[in-house]
Amino acid sequence: MDEHNGAMMTARTLKVLIVDERPTAATAHEEMLRRVVQELERIDVRTEFAPNPDDAVLRVASDASLCAVIADAGGDSTDRDAHVDAGGIAEFLTGVRARNSDLPVFVMTGTRGADALDTSVLREVDQLIYLLDDTPAWIAGRIRNAAKRYRADVLPPMFSALVAFSRKHEYSWHTPGHEGGAAFLRSPAGRAFFEFYGEQTFRSDLSVSVHELGSLLDHSGPIGEAERRAATIFGADQTYFVTNGTSTSNRVVHQASVVAGDVMVLDRNAHKSVEQAATLTHGVPVYLTTTRNHLGIIGPVPPSELTREAVEAKRAASPLVEGDDGEAVIAMITNSTYDGLLYHVPTVERTLGSHVGRLHFDEAWYGYAAFHPIYAERFAMHTGDREADAPTTFATQSTHKLLAALSQASYLHVRQGRDPVDPDLFNEAFMMHASTSPLYSIIASNDVSAAMMSGRGGPLLTGISIAEAVAFRRTLARVAAETAADDWALLPWQPETVTQPDGTTVRFEDADEDWLCSSPDPWQLRAGEPWHGFELPDGYAMLDPIKVTVVTPGVRADGAIEEFGVPAPILAAYLEQQASIVVEKTQSYSILLLFSIGVTRGKWGSLVTTLMSFKRDLDANRPLDQALPATFAEDPRRYAGMGLRDLAEQQHEVIGRTGLLALQREAFAAYPQPAMTPAAAYARVVRRAVDVVALDDAAHRTLAVGVVPYPPGIPLAMPGETTGETDGPALGYLRAMEAFDARFPGFEHETHGVEVVDGRYRLRCVRED
Ligand SMILES: *Cc1c(COP(=O)(O)O)cnc(C)c1O
Repeated sequence: MDEHNGAMMTARTLKVLIVDERPTAATAHEEMLRRVVQELERIDVRTEFAPNPDDAVLRVASDASLCAVIADAGGDSTDRDAHVDAGGIAEFLTGVRARNSDLPVFVMTGTRGADALDTSVLREVDQLIYLLDDTPAWIAGRIRNAAKRYRADVLPPMFSALVAFSRKHEYSWHTPGHEGGAAFLRSPAGRAFFEFYGEQTFRSDLSVSVHELGSLLDHSGPIGEAERRAATIFGADQTYFVTNGTSTSNRVVHQASVVAGDVMVLDRNAHKSVEQAATLTHGVPVYLTTTRNHLGIIGPVPPSELTREAVEAKRAASPLVEGDDGEAVIAMITNSTYDGLLYHVPTVERTLGSHVGRLHFDEAWYGYAAFHPIYAERFAMHTGDREADAPTTFATQSTHKLLAALSQASYLHVRQGRDPVDPDLFNEAFMMHASTSPLYSIIASNDVSAAMMSGRGGPLLTGISIAEAVAFRRTLARVAAETAADDWALLPWQPETVTQPDGTTVRFEDADEDWLCSSPDPWQLRAGEPWHGFELPDGYAMLDPIKVTVVTPGVRADGAIEEFGVPAPILAAYLEQQASIVVEKTQSYSILLLFSIGVTRGKWGSLVTTLMSFKRDLDANRPLDQALPATFAEDPRRYAGMGLRDLAEQQHEVIGRTGLLALQREAFAAYPQPAMTPAAAYARVVRRAVDVVALDDAAHRTLAVGVVPYPPGIPLAMPGETTGETDGPALGYLRAMEAFDARFPGFEHETHGVEVVDGRYRLRCVRED
């Protein structure tokens, strides 16, 4: 699909699809069709043929460059396949409309008139063609006009203005100084750069002084129009296009809500940018506690943490909160969680939102939620019940992560409520974090991403991701079910059995596929079900079908380490080195895979076969120099003579002996005591009043820089928090990671805020006076 698409909507040539054989002029009907095709080509409209309606529907689904379809409702030779009879045409139209609600559809009726067609057909058809009555030139002209109108409407406002402007080939005297790329041509490196990206990249790289496109900083012109259109598509009152990632969107939300000394209620499992927002605003954070399950998967914040009483208790317990009046000004939640657990947002609004006037949902990985009914009421801009005095709600989404956009593209959506946002004042915070020279292609990609999700596109594209993920989950579960009882398997993290609407309980892989792809029911976390291991009320959280965690053996549901285990970093290394498959996130006994819009059947099919060959190679103890050549090369002496299974046994033994998993659970559950605010700790960084301290000497110190293991980038300790006892949870966990790293070159943990010198961890602590 991609190769057509590049040139597609911006190319001069229009392309239409005719549901018919290429005409050979055996009959009067065919002769007329042939002349229409000739006429279309004369006026620069390309024609393609689909031999039958099913094929045509597939083409509509896969070729986004089509600008019209022309079907035949029976002319003077109704015996050929291509001729869609009256019943067939209704089916054909349903197929086309399910994929594209706007594509112009023409129906050729030969000598028969509209009276021969059902009303249901007439409703979906844009125009009828009387092949034997009208002239070829007239028919071709009408087809071209409709195709042209469609193409113009398909282009969203900012992108179409950008395309139009880049065609003008003006000489400009403003920035960017590369002048449509010309400057690059003056040096060999520049020329290579120009040729790699192509002229269009540079022609469309414009300065803010181009008034035709409007301004991102004051939301005017086509850019402002594009933002307003995105707001409608995503169900927001205001939408802002942010060109420096959701990292920036998050900072803007808090910059616009918090002043020095204000209490912010933050999900402890928040992205680093939220910590930075606290530092920038001089806010005082208190944290919402979450738990990890036996596998280290992070659960949502339970509802008991969201009540007024729970938050007041946190404020009272914090040595940093001054006075006990004054409510928190904003609360933030990461939705979905890093492992794909989704909140029931109306519940969060009723609890947390009853005592905090602004709620921020970080939906960096979750921009598609508004477009599929399976996610109803599980995203910030939801269309379910909202109380009259519901809080003002923000959603920040990385368009580039799970929608289709260029890196750094992000949306900031606002739904007005209590403690509303004044757009003019909010814009001060927006501009504080914006560049005065945004990259226009990033803005355009936000515009296009919204257009892709509007109308039928959103449900269709999201539905495809869900269907692919469900098919993958079923395949993996089926393979596991067919594995002998005393053998091991790689398992998708999901319920083993589900209860279908007819009351029957079946194994997940045997459940009705359409139901799995459309109903939230099978994905809800129900109280007491052992597969998820969280203590939550029924339906509060739901597993997102497209975020697939694959679990390796090694941990029992009660958290105990089993005799046999396969630590997941080995699986992740194998996938990367054998099949160039890079997983989203690796924990000790699980990996996370994302089924984004770009994932195809072929892509996950080869993932399944690689997972199976991993099992074969592990069982056969395949030598490491073959199974993990890059890892082997890191330290050939260390890994000499070892096989894949030997490595798994050694890693599993070390994890068990050092209690790495239990320490991780404890370390993330027991939040360190704060000694100063993030802003105060950062002031020490600015003044360089920082000591670099080995773990053994780090007890009871205050961290100047937070400690954040990657992935997923959730802080173990924030700046300003204390390290605790030498054998306390935080230092204990860091020491266990340090020991693991020393044993297994190539498998070192990556932890921001930790400096590694000769294999030993060091922390940056506030210098003691
Ligand atoms: C990736 C991420 C961000 C930052 O988004 P960018 O677009 O990369 O700046 C914010 N929050 C969460 C939860 C993320 O995962």
